[in-house]
Amino acid sequence: TLAACSGGGAGSTEEPTDGSTAGGGEVSEGGLVGVAMPTQTSERWIADGEAVESGLTELGYEVELQFANDDIPTQSQQIDQMITNGVEALIIAAIDGTALAPQLEAAAAADIPVISYDRLIRDSENVDFYVTFDNYNVGVQQATSLLVGLGVLNADGSEGDAEGPFNIELFAGSLDDNNAHFFYAGAMDTLEPYMEDGTLTVPSNQTDIEQTNILRWQQETAQKRMEDLLTSTYTGGDTELHGVLSPYDGLSRGIITALQNAGYGPSIADGLPVVSGQDAEIASVKLIADGVQFSTIFKDTRKLAAEAVTATDAYLSGGEPTANDTETYDNGVKVVPSFLLESDIIYTDNIQELLVDSGYWTAEEVESGV
Ligand code: BGC
Repeated sequence: TLAACSGGGAGSTEEPTDGSTAGGGEVSEGGLVGVAMPTQTSERWIADGEAVESGLTELGYEVELQFANDDIPTQSQQIDQMITNGVEALIIAAIDGTALAPQLEAAAAADIPVISYDRLIRDSENVDFYVTFDNYNVGVQQATSLLVGLGVLNADGSEGDAEGPFNIELFAGSLDDNNAHFFYAGAMDTLEPYMEDGTLTVPSNQTDIEQTNILRWQQETAQKRMEDLLTSTYTGGDTELHGVLSPYDGLSRGIITALQNAGYGPSIADGLPVVSGQDAEIASVKLIADGVQFSTIFKDTRKLAAEAVTATDAYLSGGEPTANDTETYDNGVKVVPSFLLESDIIYTDNIQELLVDSGYWTAEEVESGV
């Protein structure tokens, strides 16, 4: 359930403070911080929002948290309103990374620091800091897990026994999300050598991100594209599909539904293609436990939220947050100083260690899938 997920939010294991002191014993201004999240249709953003809110609250800040239903005008309005309400800092996970120019200008004019959360805000000078994961490496991990599922690689990265050729199809995320390009680049750089030596084939020939992207990361759109691919390329029985690169668990579940409806599976053991994922959403973690989805990428949103809180507190205490990467994230106008976190591949056999033992999901949640 979401409550349990957010219960794992940043700092949730600590006792709440009385609200009058900031971290490190300094007296906090107790200022208002605006937190703009893209949507509640994916559970990670709910967990992110709640974890950021609780972390800031523990340091004595007031928080205005908004979700925008994946609607760009709604997000713009919410941020306008936050500025009107006098926020002293903004934490923004943008829907469209290029759509917030007027809001960012207003924030800069009012000396409000802007922290880009998880997704890079592009084409603007007025982005001060970026907290995220190593998004290129997330794509490498997605492709690696696909290769492991096919038996081309072993889970330890060594060469596996399987030689193929294997038929795969590729999915990318939403083009207006800068991350989608990083995930796809990392994945394609990993898969291309195997495409070149004939281990992997993409029978549809759809390999360009312009062909494989899914607008706003919509599950139904991914299901429809998979259905269309099955009809166009895999009917007639000569061509069998073995694997699908999917960059997000919601898309993975849509893809799996399309495959099962077409007669594959129902599980990997009985011929369902290997499908990757991202976010360790509980419904997908259960599918992985059940041998249906092959893998996901776990990005611990509690850690990301904690970094956003730390960065905000640094600005509002008169300092600057510390970056660990000052080269990678060029937003088109400037390289935004960043703090990057690492992610992990989840397979059936490390769910317990990485997701349950760490308190991200309980064993009961993995069992029930909610
Ligand atoms: C995030 C992913 C998420 C996707 C869809 C991306 O920007 O980094 O974690 O799966 O958006 O919500």
